[in-house]
Amino acid sequence: MQILVTGGAGFIGSAYVRAVLNGDYAGAAGSSVTVLDSLSYSGNRANLPLTDTRLRFVHGDITDSGLLRDLLPGHDAIVHFAAESHVDRSIEGALPFVTTNVLGTQLLLDAARDAGVGRFVHVSTDEVYGSIAEGSWTETWPLSPNSPYAASKAGSDLLALAAHRTHGMDVVVTRCSNNYGPHQFPEKLIPLFVTNLLDGEPVPLYGDGGNIRDWLHVADHCRGIQLALEKGRPGEVYHIGGGTELTNHDLTGRLLEACGADWDMVVPVADRKGHDRRYSLDITKISEELGYAPRIGLADGLASTVAWYRDHRDWWEPLKARGGA
Ligand code: NAD
Repeated sequence: MQILVTGGAGFIGSAYVRAVLNGDYAGAAGSSVTVLDSLSYSGNRANLPLTDTRLRFVHGDITDSGLLRDLLPGHDAIVHFAAESHVDRSIEGALPFVTTNVLGTQLLLDAARDAGVGRFVHVSTDEVYGSIAEGSWTETWPLSPNSPYAASKAGSDLLALAAHRTHGMDVVVTRCSNNYGPHQFPEKLIPLFVTNLLDGEPVPLYGDGGNIRDWLHVADHCRGIQLALEKGRPGEVYHIGGGTELTNHDLTGRLLEACGADWDMVVPVADRKGHDRRYSLDITKISEELGYAPRIGLADGLASTVAWYRDHRDWWEPLKARGGA
């Protein structure tokens, strides 16, 4: 199988590419991978096994329709990760989010249809639903995004589903909860807090710290994506969750402990504008239809993640030094 992975130099996309090339998925055995990535601030060639002859890296933008027209023919499937992905950046300026997440996704869908690519897996987020006080979202829940990031992802989800309904494209949409793990750009909560604490720097905690997130190890997420690629029904949405809800306050406590730091390292900061209070995904559908269950518990996952950042200063120090985080 020839798989095109957009955004494959980023955090989750590169974890997926490494897993495919490592032979972690029986269904992808013998596959070769093309990564298409514009190397934005969060894209990093060092995330990829570039010497692997089954990997082809193409430095390019998903909004470049000429490039897509030349590149896509011959691929059996697309796994679409490329996105502007950080909520705080979308609050500072929404346009890059609309350009990449909405326009880029439509251009990719059009090019995939023209090239006759088979399956198109569109990777999305629980944030498209907004915030939920009690219970959990199912896949049929109405979309009610609050941040420009979430709104742009919701737009791209709907365009992907419309491509299935209108043109009969073989599209599957996945929506996941908050990912963590190695190679995550140190602007997101867990790598930011861990790298700050490893450097003896304080960490900023939004508002009252009571916002609740479900944490999902990136390896579990990528395994869920592969199940959706292999077995998902066309035109369907599948949730991929970690089954581990906790407040940002509780998560901070765990990270402090893992890094040997105290609460005096925590600086409360003004809450994020429009900050969603709680996300919660019901993962019954993917569990029953595709046999997915998260395998990495939060305690083990956090311990191995903290250890990775402790052992890979060479990866994250240049990123923080250049001021992108
Ligand atoms: P990331 O920011 O680490 O990676 C995004 C990648 O896309 C980068 O390599 C970047 O260079 C590339 N990219 C950005 N714009 C591009 C463009 N115009 N053309 C080509 N490449 C481009 O993000 P991530 O955390 O790995 O997220 C990947 C996907 O997963 C995104 O679609 C995101 O919405 C989704 N997601 C992430 C999380 C999470 O917790 N990180 C949760 C839910 C969903």
